[in-house]
Formats: sequence, C-alpha cells, structure tokens
Amino acid sequence: MPDHRRDEGIKRRDFINGMLIAAGTASVGSSVPMRAFAQLAPSTTFPCDGSIGTDPNVTRGARTACAQLLSAAQANAFDQVTLSPVVTANVTIRSATPVVDLGYDAYYWGSQYWADFVVADWVGPNRNNPNRQTVLTFYGGNTASVEDQPNERIKLLTTPFSSHEDSLRADMNRVLAGRNFDFDRDVIAMYLYRWGHSMVYPKPGWPFSAPINKNGQVIRVPSPRFYARQQIGRISFGAQDVESSPANESAIGAGVRTSGEVLPLL
Ligand SMILES: Cc1cc2nc3c(=O)[nH]c(=O)nc-3n(C[C@H](O)[C@H](O)[C@H](O)COP(=O)(O)OP(=O)(O)OC[C@H]3O[C@@H](n4cnc5c(N)ncnc54)[C@H](O)[C@@H]3O)c2cc1C
Repeated sequence: MPDHRRDEGIKRRDFINGMLIAAGTASVGSSVPMRAFAQLAPSTTFPCDGSIGTDPNVTRGARTACAQLLSAAQANAFDQVTLSPVVTANVTIRSATPVVDLGYDAYYWGSQYWADFVVADWVGPNRNNPNRQTVLTFYGGNTASVEDQPNERIKLLTTPFSSHEDSLRADMNRVLAGRNFDFDRDVIAMYLYRWGHSMVYPKPGWPFSAPINKNGQVIRVPSPRFYARQQIGRISFGAQDVESSPANESAIGAGVRTSGEVLPLL
C-alpha cells in the first residue's frame, strides 16, 4: 500500500478515523461496527501502520485491525471541513489613556499581520478609567483562499516572534499616533498565540448546499456538514467544526445536538 501521507500530509479523515478507532476501542470496544479495508475506496489513506490482521472482511472492531469507522461518504464529507489558522496577541500597556475613548473593538487597515484589537477589560466598570494598565487583544487577518489555508498554517508556525512584534510596533505607533503612545516605552508585555486550526472556514457549500431543481420544484438538500456529523454507534461529533460558522452559537448548537443524540443512550 502506498504511503500517501508522505506526499499529502495526514488528511483530516485519517486523523478523525484514528481518533474514532482510539475512542471506539477504548470506550465501546467491539460494539461499534468497523469497516474493513476491502470496503474502502482505493484512494483512501489509512491512519495506522502495520498488519491489518488476516481477515480483511472483519466487521467487528479489534484492536489489532487497522479498520475505519467512517464510511467513504462520511470521510468525504469530513474532507470538506476547512479550518483556518489565526494569530492573536495579548499586549499589556502601561496606561489605558491612548485607547480609553475608542470603544471595545478597533479595526484598522494596512497591517502586515493584524486586523483589529479589543480592550480586554472593556466590559467591566473600569472601562472609562484612563489610569489603569490594560490588555489589548490583537487578531490576525487572513484573506487566503480555502486552498491556501494549509500554507497559511505553515507560515504562521514559521514566522519569527520578532516579525509579529515588529508589525505590532509599527501598527500601534501608527494608529495611536498623537495619543501620547510609544510602543517601546508603553508596552509591558506581549504574548503571541499561534492557532493552527483555530476556526472552521465556512466556504460556499459548507453551511448550506445549493438546492436541486426537480421538475421545476426547488428542493433543499443537506450540505456535507450534515453527513460528516452523523452519529456512529455511541460516538457523536460535537464542536464548531461540523457546524456552519466559527462562532459560539455553533459550539452551543453542537452541544445541544449531541446531547440530544446521546441522551437516549444513557
Ligand atoms: C481568535 C478567535 C476569536 C474568536 N472570536 C469569536 C467571537 O468574537 N464570537 C464568537 O461567537 N466566536 C468567536 N470565535 C469562535 C469560537 O471561539 C469558537 O467557535 C468556539 O470556541 C468553538 O467551540 P468548540 O467547543 O467547538 O471548540 P473549542 O473551543 O476549540 O474546544 C475544543 C476543545 O477540545 C479540546 N481537544 C482537542 N482535541 C482533544 C483531544 N484529543 N482530547 C481531549 N480534548 C481535546 C481542545 O483543547 C479544546 O479545549 C473565535 C475564535 C477564535 C480562534
């Protein structure tokens, strides 16, 4: 069997299958039906190495069998999940004076990496107090295409801290000009966070599929996310990844859905 991973990286479906096999064998043992290699499309890659056992038609899970829990259709649907990377930074400033009148969220143009910043303690009663230290959370911008998200991830992980810092220095000195702010004097600390798979990217066709037209009647059809998140035995798929948008309501929606799926099993 060719090792596709060497050329293509580990696919999302492989990762999910690996997790499922681990979860299946650990928590439900052989009660989850597993599909054997023989039933899979030839292009499918596999998450584990080594012997697959002597019976390729085994349909009950065994720890020694490298079998897949996902059907080819469900694996294909999972391949439609796109996750985008994002960089964030928490920047502690000596005094809130330069930002105290800006409101919660300030967007600006022209940065190498950054798109906006929020004032971390803005929701509290202290928001109008200029004589406090505060933290500004900066969010990275990402305008890359769906296909380019993996490259963006590599760039994110290989960009030196100093490059992000230099960009912030230039940005803050520029957008806070005339507000008695100097990055080297007023920034106390900067914490950088590189989130490789930070949020689901709701590309066209992911939240909703295009409806089909049958004899002049428009019929709605489920998009791939509905197929991807089909419950398998006692395993349910939560999280924003199989919902439509990178937002808390998607995470909450996934929680409600999976609760409904597992409650009858308790
Ligand atoms: C920078 C940024 C800004 C955002 N801003 C907003 C906003 O303003 N408003 C909004 O509504 N949404 C926002 N979002 C999106 C929102 O945060 C997410 O949609 C939401 O947190 C997703 O929740 P979740 O439970 O699906 O996944 P997560 O919050 O990612 O939780 C998944 C958890 O699973 C854990 N985990 C992963 N693998 C394993 C494993 N193998 N074993 C055990 N645990 C594991 C992880 O550590 C994590 O704790 C933002 C996201 C980012 C990244």
